[in-house]
Amino acid sequence: MKLVFATQNQHKAAEIQALLPSEFEVLTLNDINISEDIPETADTLEGNASQKSHYILRHYSLDCFSDDTGLEIKAINNEPGVYSARYAGPSKNADENMNKVLEKLADKSDRTAQFRTVISLILEGKEHIFEGIVKGSIISEKRGEDGFGYDPIFVPEGQNKTFAELSLDEKNKMSHRARAFEKMIHFLKNDHLKHTM
Ligand code: IMP
Repeated sequence: MKLVFATQNQHKAAEIQALLPSEFEVLTLNDINISEDIPETADTLEGNASQKSHYILRHYSLDCFSDDTGLEIKAINNEPGVYSARYAGPSKNADENMNKVLEKLADKSDRTAQFRTVISLILEGKEHIFEGIVKGSIISEKRGEDGFGYDPIFVPEGQNKTFAELSLDEKNKMSHRARAFEKMIHFLKNDHLKHTM
């Protein structure tokens, strides 16, 4: 069966495809010639993921899934949360976003934080939600060259390296996104395939 992933990122889609049985064919928005921006105007991660999937259902009547991720920092009311990409402004600059976090945490002793990914999967018109979390803390300076977004200031629980100092393989073993996608893949392989075969 065909499943549309609400992303233009072929690489992300290929990663998911590799983990799924061949019964599932993952298509990106590019693959089905959707070039318009899909609205993401909700004020929660769940709301945004769900909004994107419902948009595809409404306009194209296709089975699909969408994800949304945010960094949630306890001492500042779970900011930047759903606004993680554009925390310091519309230019979506990762360095400026991290500087803003570090400034806001300057006088805080509680540095605990988590990355959270929410996936909305719509199959035959029915929505299923999956969540992946990695807990950790925000350090007081940037460390490491790899990764993206807030990786240089986030140290996952049980590690002493930041996400930007870990290899992509190491990060993928424990990341919020990997955990959310594992749950969706488990559902598709076990619950969904069994009921449809
Ligand atoms: P998206 O929903 O995957 O587009 O993520 C939204 C924003 O959250 C990104 O622009 C990044 O700022 C941040 N983010 C998401 N995932 C990660 C990650 O794995 N490491 C660091 N930052 C991330």
